[in-house]
Amino acid sequence: MLAVTATPDITSVGIVGGSLAGLFHAVALTGLGLDVDVWERSTGRPDDRGAGIVLQPGVAWFLRELCGVDPDRVSVPVTHRQFFTGDGNVRIMPMRQQMISWGAIYQALRDTLPAERYHDGQPVTALVPGPAGATVHVGEAARAVDLAIIADGSASRHRGLVAPDGAPRYAGYVAYRGVIDEADLPQELATRFGDRFSFWDGERSQFLCYFIPGDNGTTATGHRRMNWVWYTRADPPELARITTDRNGTRHGLSLPPGLLAPQVRTDLLASARSTLPEPLRRLVEHTTEPFLQAILDARATRMRNHRILLTGDAAFVVRPHTAASTEKAAADAITLLHALQQAPSADTALQAWERLRLAEGTAIHRQGVSLGRRLGLSGPETTAGTDDRTWWGAERRS
Ligand SMILES: Cc1cc2nc3c(=O)[nH]c(=O)nc-3n(C[C@H](O)[C@H](O)[C@H](O)COP(=O)(O)OP(=O)(O)OC[C@H]3O[C@@H](n4cnc5c(N)ncnc54)[C@H](O)[C@@H]3O)c2cc1C
Repeated sequence: MLAVTATPDITSVGIVGGSLAGLFHAVALTGLGLDVDVWERSTGRPDDRGAGIVLQPGVAWFLRELCGVDPDRVSVPVTHRQFFTGDGNVRIMPMRQQMISWGAIYQALRDTLPAERYHDGQPVTALVPGPAGATVHVGEAARAVDLAIIADGSASRHRGLVAPDGAPRYAGYVAYRGVIDEADLPQELATRFGDRFSFWDGERSQFLCYFIPGDNGTTATGHRRMNWVWYTRADPPELARITTDRNGTRHGLSLPPGLLAPQVRTDLLASARSTLPEPLRRLVEHTTEPFLQAILDARATRMRNHRILLTGDAAFVVRPHTAASTEKAAADAITLLHALQQAPSADTALQAWERLRLAEGTAIHRQGVSLGRRLGLSGPETTAGTDDRTWWGAERRS
């Protein structure tokens, strides 16, 4: 357990949302000796298909120091970047990085948090601020806590308590995504992508791919998964069309694996064949269940309302080009941990935390918008609306 220094006025913490941001905070604050509970709306194990994540230093530190997990054991190394060019050539440059899966991070966090502190299938129905904390309502039950943390994702229902102006906006483009078991890839294709982070920049379009751990976090060659992402523009009517599933149900901002409408899949394959370099086209062809997510922007101007904090994607949804969403969630938790350890009082700690995390979130948000613009992807923004749910944050475990 970490040393508690200056938080006698915070002993109980309630966290809304038990995905990565909620879990990072729960593990960090439990380690401080605080009495932490997490309420998660969905039930059961998450489906982590498609969740390739670049392992950044904060997450690696968190896994090693607070979960006792060696990051090298649960990630796949890449040694080079390779850039496919329009003339069929490939440019290669050395660059070491590690790729991890959403599921490997989630598992490490769940294994660290005492199971009885994670209440799944229990949506928080209301959060009521009080003079010395907040009351968390779950159905008929109510629990008073000294500190409440909102970690309910980009479609946050509770964000308005802290940042009423922080609703997400559609950035004008989507990411088609695919995951393929390495065993299902032709050997020469697997070798070609081996230990490389591959890119192709097209006309208002970008494709990238890399290997991530396979089932049960295995990183052995032959048992990994290829993870690809293809950014392409889609105006709002096109977004509505491609996120309408094979049964005619409209999903709004994302579509889980297995639900792509046949015509959308046909169009995707046709587009891959007419634009992508051959190895990348073959990845799309080998993908049995492509899925997609709209790219969103959300930027909070406040992250704290007295003893209620706003974290993770509920505070800032940043563009995936930054490879920083998960790192940002981990850094929110690490910064809170250090602030509570070092500040002379809890309220001073929370003030310092908000100042630091607002500055960082704003900087990453700007960087993402600028990268999107540089790739020619950004379009006029439209408000996404709080009724839209992303499958990775809302439907995945329902
Ligand atoms: C499968 C998957 C793939 C991803 N892929 C990428 C990627 O490729 N690139 C990238 O940048 N980011 C990706 N992300 C997002 C990235 O992981 C997040 O930025 C990071 O995990 C922080 O998310 P979060 O915990 O703030 O929100 P989320 O992961 O959206 O979690 C919010 C949680 O809150 C719960 N919840 C909502 N309302 C309530 C309520 N009222 N009561 C209780 N619980 C509630 C939801 O069920 C959900 O579990 C992915 C996430 C997932 C799950």
